[in-house]
Amino acid sequence: MKYVDEFRDPEAARRLAAAIAARMSRPWTIMEICGGQTHAILKYGLEELLPIDLTLVHGPGCPVCVTPAGIIDAAVELASRRDVMLVSFGDMLRVPGSSRDLLSAKAAGGDVRLVYSPLDAVKLAQANPQKLIVFFAVGFETTAPANAAAVLAAKRLGLRNFFLLAAHRRVPPAMEAILSAPSCRVQAFLAAGHVCTVMGYREYLPIVETFRTPVVVTGFEPIDILMGILQAVELLEQGKASVANQYARVVTEKGNLQAQRLMAEVFEICDADWRGMGRIPASGLRLKPTYAAFDAEQVFSLKTSDKQERPTDCLAGKVLQGLIKPTDCPAFGAACRPETPLGAPMVSSEGACAAYFRYRQQKLQTANPKGD
Ligand code: SF4
Repeated sequence: MKYVDEFRDPEAARRLAAAIAARMSRPWTIMEICGGQTHAILKYGLEELLPIDLTLVHGPGCPVCVTPAGIIDAAVELASRRDVMLVSFGDMLRVPGSSRDLLSAKAAGGDVRLVYSPLDAVKLAQANPQKLIVFFAVGFETTAPANAAAVLAAKRLGLRNFFLLAAHRRVPPAMEAILSAPSCRVQAFLAAGHVCTVMGYREYLPIVETFRTPVVVTGFEPIDILMGILQAVELLEQGKASVANQYARVVTEKGNLQAQRLMAEVFEICDADWRGMGRIPASGLRLKPTYAAFDAEQVFSLKTSDKQERPTDCLAGKVLQGLIKPTDCPAFGAACRPETPLGAPMVSSEGACAAYFRYRQQKLQTANPKGD
């Protein structure tokens, strides 16, 4: 199949891994930003192909994982109101707030519905005029344009019962925060192809310039990722700080201008809290004052910041900044498992801890199908 099989070819993967090993003169540490790439790395066993002195660390590119407790608390508060229908993607239900999650709000009688698209939330608002529909808008630059389109659709339809609880996050400021930390060990980034599809790769030029850290835009198939790693190693070995675009079949320098216009029409940049990483300047998107009537935070007078995360043994902040691997967390696979998660990275389908758990389990089962 064109554009799938050739990007999963095991022989090509082995050749690329050999080329990476041949090019390396010293150890390097590379961070892939996106949770989707983390899952591909684990699913296809890429780390096992790569040289031992190449370390891949996993970044904060899972929107569910980085949504802070304060916003979950606000969503839980809304879901507990009789007049509100809280609409969300399924992954958000079990993410812990400071004391409860959305699943417990639902179990306690809250009207919590799952959708696959923000436009489904608009349809729910049309179909339920007696209810106040709040769409919990979580995600990076990839999902923000569709959420903006939902607000514009609600406006066009004259809906007065549709609101956004906006928890969008922007990726480049998080990369800057990681690189600014004294404990940072990231020497190059693999940037998420789908974010760059929307925003283009020009956003990374100032980061490369300031931090002298190479960035390679990569796709999500194993060959994409290995090609991206090879390009990153090339740049590191040459001492070159620049942006390379491995995903040129999809990503351009300027990105999708129409999607960017949609975002700019509805949202403005703001400072934002990240779970485990604290407040990062200019890393969020909130509704513009002209769309205040759709802003759940304002309409319902919610307080989404200054709330402390529930103290747990979860080391998600360190995982999301690439300081440790999920398996370095003492709770991994013991107190923290998908059915009893202590933190969002074990809950989310894009979470790094979930990826390690899932694919390590599969490997164990393949090696020992009878479980002896
Ligand atoms: S394994 Fe669980 S407790 Fe540890 S960092 Fe991951 S989500 Fe948190």
